[in-house]
Amino acid sequence: MTTFDADVIIAGAGMAGATLALALKSGGIEPLLVDPMPFDTQLEPNFDGRSCAIAFSCFRQWRTLGLAPLLEPHAQRMDQILVTDGRSPGAATPGQTPFFLHFDAAEIADRVAGEPLGYMLENRRTRAALAEGVTRAGITVLAPQRVASVDARPGWVEVTLASGRVLKAPLVVGAEGRGSIVRKAAGIEAVGWDYPQTGVVCTVKLERGHGGVAHEYFMPGGPFAILPLTEDRASLVWTEKRDRAEALKAASPEAFNAHLHRRFGDFLGAITVVGPVFTYPLSIAIAEKLCAPRIALLGDAAHGVHPIAGQGLNLGLKGAAALAEVIVEASRLGEDIGSEAVLERYAGWRRFDTNTLAAGMDAFVWLFSNDNPLIRLVRGLGMTAVNRIGPARRFFMHEAGGAVGDLPRLLKGEAL
Ligand SMILES: Cc1cc2nc3c(=O)[nH]c(=O)nc-3n(C[C@H](O)[C@H](O)[C@H](O)COP(=O)(O)OP(=O)(O)OC[C@H]3O[C@@H](n4cnc5c(N)ncnc54)[C@H](O)[C@@H]3O)c2cc1C
Repeated sequence: MTTFDADVIIAGAGMAGATLALALKSGGIEPLLVDPMPFDTQLEPNFDGRSCAIAFSCFRQWRTLGLAPLLEPHAQRMDQILVTDGRSPGAATPGQTPFFLHFDAAEIADRVAGEPLGYMLENRRTRAALAEGVTRAGITVLAPQRVASVDARPGWVEVTLASGRVLKAPLVVGAEGRGSIVRKAAGIEAVGWDYPQTGVVCTVKLERGHGGVAHEYFMPGGPFAILPLTEDRASLVWTEKRDRAEALKAASPEAFNAHLHRRFGDFLGAITVVGPVFTYPLSIAIAEKLCAPRIALLGDAAHGVHPIAGQGLNLGLKGAAALAEVIVEASRLGEDIGSEAVLERYAGWRRFDTNTLAAGMDAFVWLFSNDNPLIRLVRGLGMTAVNRIGPARRFFMHEAGGAVGDLPRLLKGEAL
């Protein structure tokens, strides 16, 4: 009789892996997390400068898992999104261009009980909340520790750590980001490529209130996003061609500020950069399959996408909700949670959403990082058309909120 170290071993205690661990635990399954980084390192201000737009359905999952008191003080409601096909500074101001899209949560308020379009949260705040949730739930975390290899056997999986320790469980989940060891061990290929773009990320303090409005406008080098944070700050994701982005990162604070002011405009008054400037080379990598015998993939290990529409983490969180529900239900029915029949339910549930969103994001990058006048005209007309058609606007809002299709229970705010 094989003795197991856990029901599910999760490689990677990032935002997707930790959410899955909490969801499984809430359904009576015993997870074990492995990560090379101790939680304390993840919480340092210079560890991850990004903030994520969290779809309202994904936020419901965290609320259901008991994280609301830890997250809500840091969560900025995003009540409106203004997408502008602007090439000049300040084009985000309505009225300056006929080509814009305006999403307003008030339009779907009756169907989502007043929820905003999403919430903006700094990654380090989210990680702190998840770390606290994981600790409070009594989930075993092996960190600093790294998954080195994975060997699937007929009735269980062996996970060897870099220390040489061998763990056994019926199932291992690869949630260790784009370089996933688990994916490689399963022999699952990833299809993808690098974009000639880098995301320059920083946080700014605004002179004028942002009013919960997120702005995205499109420049030849790529999109420029101004995402509202608490305390009248904003997270900027400034996509630039790679060499320009590196020059910006290396620039003196004075030179960086001068470029930033030209790009940002003055529609929110004076802006002041707070904290470091980070750069993230952008790429896409989609695993050909989401599971193999005794192995499932989650988050960026399964699908890393361009941040153009803020969907990368949301895909991982939706995956966590679906995978947890499948595993918990299978366990309650007495099924083998690592069997192909069970894992294929997860893969089938997530396949369509994952593939359509990944393909959509890639098409968006091409369409919106393009300075060809004809393509600019086409995308501008497309935006104007969607903006004028109420049902199309409302569809995009539900889609961005992750509230379309057959939703897992946690995304509806229901416990497992
Ligand atoms: C500029 C930018 C802006 C973005 N904005 C948004 C947004 O607004 N909304 C959104 O939804 N998404 C956004 N994203 C995407 C989002 O950041 C990622 O999708 C998300 O962080 C992926 O989380 P993850 O937990 O899957 O992986 P990761 O964050 O990569 O975590 C993986 C974890 O695995 C650990 N690990 C690595 N190797 C091993 C190993 N061998 N064994 C065990 N553990 C291991 C790592 O230490 C890490 O903790 C953005 C991305 C970028 C680049």
